[in-house]
Amino acid sequence: MQPVDVIVVGGGPAGSSCAAALVEAGRSVAVLDQATFPRTKLCAGWVTPAVFRALGIAPPDYPRGLHEFDHLVIHVKGLTFRLPSRQYSVRRLEFDDFLLRRSGATIIPHQVHVIDRDRDGFMVDGAFRCRHLVGAGGTRCPVYRQVFREICAHNASLQVAAMELEYPIQWRDPRCHLWFFDHGLPGYSWYVPKAGGWLNIGVGAMSGPLRARGQNLHGHWARLVARLRRDKMIDDRPLEPAGYSYYLRDGSGPWQCGNAFLAGDAAGMATRDLGEGIGPAIRSGQAAARGILTGTACAPTEISALSLDEVIQNGLLRALGRSLLHLSGVTSRQLPLAA
Ligand SMILES: Cc1cc2nc3c(=O)[nH]c(=O)nc-3n(C[C@H](O)[C@H](O)[C@H](O)COP(=O)(O)OP(=O)(O)OC[C@H]3O[C@@H](n4cnc5c(N)ncnc54)[C@H](O)[C@@H]3O)c2cc1C
Repeated sequence: MQPVDVIVVGGGPAGSSCAAALVEAGRSVAVLDQATFPRTKLCAGWVTPAVFRALGIAPPDYPRGLHEFDHLVIHVKGLTFRLPSRQYSVRRLEFDDFLLRRSGATIIPHQVHVIDRDRDGFMVDGAFRCRHLVGAGGTRCPVYRQVFREICAHNASLQVAAMELEYPIQWRDPRCHLWFFDHGLPGYSWYVPKAGGWLNIGVGAMSGPLRARGQNLHGHWARLVARLRRDKMIDDRPLEPAGYSYYLRDGSGPWQCGNAFLAGDAAGMATRDLGEGIGPAIRSGQAAARGILTGTACAPTEISALSLDEVIQNGLLRALGRSLLHLSGVTSRQLPLAA
């Protein structure tokens, strides 16, 4: 392949958003992804209005399946309440494919293994040369492992483990349900209906506290499924979930090392309160593109590390939520809170 200005490793929301901004500015960009799109990505697919704003798309103009919520149903320790909030669900299979195609970048199916750096830039697997390299390959991104990990490793105390399943089912309840801290879960479980008769259910938790309590996700998954069956929200078919882990936002990066940049899960960008990763992936991908285009250091500290401001529109409730987060230690040291 001819050398390009930028190689982006990973074509998820972080990689495609970075690529789109660079292509728009006239740069030659190749996105290398080990998967052929459309590809499955484990994710509940909840997206906030801010995601569409960052993408410059009005939700009704999104051309694939979109399901809209005008409130969330929150369950905490036996209490249930409705939180008025306009939110959306998408299928990542469709969403990521749409974003990657519209980026206009050259898309190359290729699993990246070896990255060599020299005076002119980078050589990837001895075959792809570029001046700038962007790591947007998720938690196990090879750019993170080979260029960044020694400088600044992910903060192990911010690791999240998640287990979920998305499957076709004629759901009856069209609302999004979230169960917080059920049976000592240091996280939450979800029921997220999607357009076209799809449903995503899952459990996510902070890995360290989960282990410290002698628990694992399988037990919480079984409890979620039992609850949903009991409440007739799902049927009795056997369900086989899959797992994945990623890192929540730490204030210290890493984001840039010379001409190499990180974005999305590769940089541990998900929000501290709800583990929302799609919006931060998009905005950090765009920040990496800005860093390349302007030649200035890239530190996307302007990207909020909390989802709360997007989810809770009522000012009083938001203040209450912020206080609770502060008391629980979520908004303590090292956390950039700018929105
Ligand atoms: C169970 C679960 C539920 C979640 N639910 C939500 C939610 O509802 N809302 C939300 O906002 N966030 C959610 N998240 C977080 C969100 O999914 C991620 O933060 C987001 O996908 C990060 O996007 P990304 O572009 O950084 O990485 P990804 O979307 O993971 O994309 C990385 C890409 O890199 C490619 N890649 C990896 N390694 C290589 C390699 N060696 N060579 C080439 N290509 C490679 C992969 O194939 C992949 O396409 C959830 C996460 C999990 C695990």
